[in-house]
Amino acid sequence: MPVTLTDPTRAAHALICHGALRHNVQRLRTLAPKANIMAVIKANAYGHGMLDVAKTLALAGVDAFAVARTDGAIELRQAGITHRIAVLQGFFNEDELKAHAALGLEPVIHSAWQVDLLERIHPPVPIRIWLKVDTGMHRLGLLPEEFEGILQRLKACRSIEQPIPLMSHLANADALEDSFTQSQLSLFEDIHLTHPEEASVANSAGILGWDQAVREWIRPGISIYGVSPFPKRSAIDEGLQPVMTLRTRLISIKEVKAGTPVGYGGDWICPQPTRLGVAAIGYGDGYPRLARAGTPVLINHQKAALIGRVSMDMITLDLTPLKDSKVGDLVTLWGDELPVETIADAAGTIPYDLLCGVTRRVKFIDT
Ligand SMILES: *Cc1c(COP(=O)(O)O)cnc(C)c1O
Repeated sequence: MPVTLTDPTRAAHALICHGALRHNVQRLRTLAPKANIMAVIKANAYGHGMLDVAKTLALAGVDAFAVARTDGAIELRQAGITHRIAVLQGFFNEDELKAHAALGLEPVIHSAWQVDLLERIHPPVPIRIWLKVDTGMHRLGLLPEEFEGILQRLKACRSIEQPIPLMSHLANADALEDSFTQSQLSLFEDIHLTHPEEASVANSAGILGWDQAVREWIRPGISIYGVSPFPKRSAIDEGLQPVMTLRTRLISIKEVKAGTPVGYGGDWICPQPTRLGVAAIGYGDGYPRLARAGTPVLINHQKAALIGRVSMDMITLDLTPLKDSKVGDLVTLWGDELPVETIADAAGTIPYDLLCGVTRRVKFIDT
């Protein structure tokens, strides 16, 4: 007889709220009613599960998807997704270029070597590309001085669909007071004037914070998952609903004396008699190891504090104020009632990092 465990919520699990995904798409539509939405679902949809997320977003009416790498796009096609798919890093080699052509993928062209390859390979059916210009991020994209030359070569390339749309990426749009975004936008404007075709500039922070960044195509990532891109504004302020709620259960509670050291290194010494709880989640599930003592968790909707070091499979909690807490209670690490923004801040990182970092051991439950 195969042995199966019937309760997926007995240990670390992530609830994925598809209603929240639909709500967030609707919210982005309201914010940019004229723009097409290219939903960014790289890194397994920011850790939410790419295929299920893509299916819901397709039904919610997004216009295209963006993934980082070719393998993600192949997986989408194999799952029957027929939407346009941009591959943000483009193809890495000849093999991938052929896959792009065969599957109707849309590589982002960011470097001259990719143009060499396109001229050499000539895919049998013209492929749609996005041409990326580097306006200040200085990661991928053509430098403004290379732009005209490369554009002319691409225009002459019979295997490329014309006209060619433009793309650029903002480096600091989450800092609303920083003038750098303005300078990126005006540099983009200058280049765009020489090739006035469809364009895409705005990530989530661009959509929510910079009107001028909204062009024909917007590229929301984090906002689709119901998280604010801004350090000082919450998802609720932006009218977004968190999609992922990460939970587990209490597996042990004991009363210890003042002066008791807790966890590896004995870093935490109980300052008073303490009701000490243990929850079944750790950095092996993607809970941040560097979360500080005092980081909030919820026990049945009531706040408690993390104490001691995060271990691989467990965390320790101060349940002193929660006299009624008991083994088996649900523990929420982040989500609906506890913003992942707060936890990221307490761990010295960003919400993107926490969401992508949820590991395979965690059970995903679509709701
Ligand atoms: C990740 C990414 C996005 C989405 O960014 P968010 O901040 O998550 O909205 C958009 N464009 C590019 C090129 C990206 O790499």
